[in-house]
Amino acid sequence: MSLAVQRTDFDRYMVPVFNPLEMILVRGEGSRLWDQQGRDYIDFGAGVAVTSLGHSHPALIKALHAQAARLWHVSNYFTNEPALSLARKLCDATFAEQVFYCNSGAEANEAALKLARKRGVDKHPEKVEIVAFNGSFHGRTFFTVSVGGQPKYSSGMGPTPPGIVHVDFNDIEAVKRVIGPKTCAVIVETVIGEGGILPATPEFLQTLRDRTKAHDAVLIFDEIQSGNGRTGALYDYMNTAVVPDILTTAKGLGGGFPIGAMLTTAEVGNHFKPGSHGSTFGGNPLACAVAEAAFDIINDPVFLAGVRAKAERAAAALRAIGERHGCFTEIRHAGLWFGCELASSLANRAGEMVAKGAGNGVLMLLAGPNVLRVATSLIITDAELDEGLRRLEKTCVEMVG
Ligand SMILES: *Cc1c(COP(=O)(O)O)cnc(C)c1O
Repeated sequence: MSLAVQRTDFDRYMVPVFNPLEMILVRGEGSRLWDQQGRDYIDFGAGVAVTSLGHSHPALIKALHAQAARLWHVSNYFTNEPALSLARKLCDATFAEQVFYCNSGAEANEAALKLARKRGVDKHPEKVEIVAFNGSFHGRTFFTVSVGGQPKYSSGMGPTPPGIVHVDFNDIEAVKRVIGPKTCAVIVETVIGEGGILPATPEFLQTLRDRTKAHDAVLIFDEIQSGNGRTGALYDYMNTAVVPDILTTAKGLGGGFPIGAMLTTAEVGNHFKPGSHGSTFGGNPLACAVAEAAFDIINDPVFLAGVRAKAERAAAALRAIGERHGCFTEIRHAGLWFGCELASSLANRAGEMVAKGAGNGVLMLLAGPNVLRVATSLIITDAELDEGLRRLEKTCVEMVG
């Protein structure tokens, strides 16, 4: 029998791009996880807003098992039933008329940005400029880190692709200045996620819509984290008055099974032709079957109303904790997606708080050094929520000392 692997094996065998916490999680059910030693944790991170239906959801297990016994992979020389069935549902439920599948958020944005460039160049060779926002996050491929508004992710790796302009998020005057005839696309998160749960203002989104329309550029909404029920709507654009030309989705789409998708209109999508872009695994039958099962649960008005109700309950509780202990100055949220701004006495200690929380049996996220991020599953029970909040509060008490 081989010895169980341990955290030290990470340092020994893994490329050091991550610095994981000490414990190794081995099992999950609902919003609870267990480590190798049998200690339990309340999941307030959902694998970074991915496991939206919790762990071991029976409908997802059933879909995965059924598809696993039928067909795993056929390549894109063929299409397949789960891919078509999910695409039809995504188009029926949204503005979109066409879907491109891939395996992650970054790949969905890569497809969106390439498509927008292709459409721009089809119209004029100089129509290549992409407008993006400081503080935004769009993934880790070289194109997407370059478009993302956090230079730390693209620096130290040589020249970045040209034709990308960054301005401040929610700065209406700046976007009026930079969007012009050379703009092929504007890419924006409707709520900045990694950068701190910062919502776009309605006027800002409307300005982006008006200016891109006036200059025949595409408006891309990166809904990789905000989509699939997270904000209490199927996609967050449905909470706004603005409809994008391209929407990218991933994280919660497969409930934990890797899948990404780019949704768009036929006018935009038809600028790609066979061979313009591709993916070996995109549209994989296992991924699409699981995502369809997740979609069927989430795309339901009763379910989404439940998300909004749980969100209000959690927001009130987090505000009360902030007030009792002076640990938070503000609780921002969009559905079950919270950014708790740390008090100045706790400046730059979000990472420490996440680690302490894990020690207390609650798994949380950060969004920058001063924001504690909480993203529960969308089906967290009141009992799980209360237990997680109790452990979070204990952590706050320890932090403020
Ligand atoms: C997570 C995230 C991405 C990148 O997704 P990956 O699956 O890690 O490639 C892109 N955009 C946003 C808004 C995200 O939150």
